[in-house]
Parts: sequence; structure tokens; C-alpha cells
Amino acid sequence: MRDLIKLSCEECKRDNYVTDKNKRTMPEKFKIKKYCAACRTHTVHKEGKISKG
Ligand SMILES: [Zn+2]
Repeated sequence: MRDLIKLSCEECKRDNYVTDKNKRTMPEKFKIKKYCAACRTHTVHKEGKISKG
């Protein structure tokens, strides 16, 4: 079971990445350092849910 998630920059709150994760292997919400084009540097990105229409 894979869930689509988005990764949002903690600094500017922009949704910069969309990915999926395996719920079984990664049940916890995770934070990851990724490049943010708006901040022009690597920032902490936090997992968020994507609502399906
Ligand atoms: Zn940012």
C-alpha cells in the first residue's frame, strides 16, 4: 500500500515535491532536507497529505 504525499518547505510552506511512500516501512511522518527553489537553499521539508478529489 503506497500513499502519495507531498513535501512542504518548513520555511516558506511551499509544496515542492510530490512522492509516495510505503506505509508499512515508513509509518511515521518524516522530515527530510531538500532543496527549495523559493528559499534557494536546502531546508527541512515536512510530509503532508495530498487530498484526492
Ligand atoms: Zn522554502
